Amino acid sequence: AERTLVLVKPDGVRRGLVGEVLRRIEAKGYTLVALDLRTADDDLLGAHYAEHEGKPFYAPLVEFMGSGPVAAVVVEGHRAIEGFRSLAGTTDPTTAAPGTIRGDLGRDWGLAVTQNLVHGSDSTESAAREIGLWFPELAPA
Ligand code: ATP
Repeated sequence: AERTLVLVKPDGVRRGLVGEVLRRIEAKGYTLVALDLRTADDDLLGAHYAEHEGKPFYAPLVEFMGSGPVAAVVVEGHRAIEGFRSLAGTTDPTTAAPGTIRGDLGRDWGLAVTQNLVHGSDSTESAAREIGLWFPELAPA
């Protein structure tokens, strides 16, 4: 079955929303196959966000993502990648559709980085890459 990497970002952990995010993933019918709460270092975050290096929000993004623990989760199920992105809603929480994680639980705090509670892999390639970074023990042999 397809796997995706979900992160509950530091804003979500600080606000006590890990359970709510996991509840929505499980209620949708996906399976949690790995779960870990940890504060990511710059090496991991630099690799995770390599595609954004050079963008104006890159440095604040890495700083924010390392500002406290994140809940890293591997989620499994047929079409789990697009399924979780649909649950998460669009990037900007102000306008993300009600019913989604970002739309129901997020808002704009007027900060340099969009704090939008969750991350989900956007393709099979990025899911494999990101699961390998966050959970090397799950990487295919
Ligand atoms: P989605 O793909 O659903 O838009 P994402 O998390 O994959 O969400 P990316 O475009 O990969 O979004 O950006 C990574 C993260 O960087 C975003 O989730 C957000 O936290 C932050 N971000 C993205 N664009 C901006 C921006 N223009 N200004 C500030 N922060 C941003």
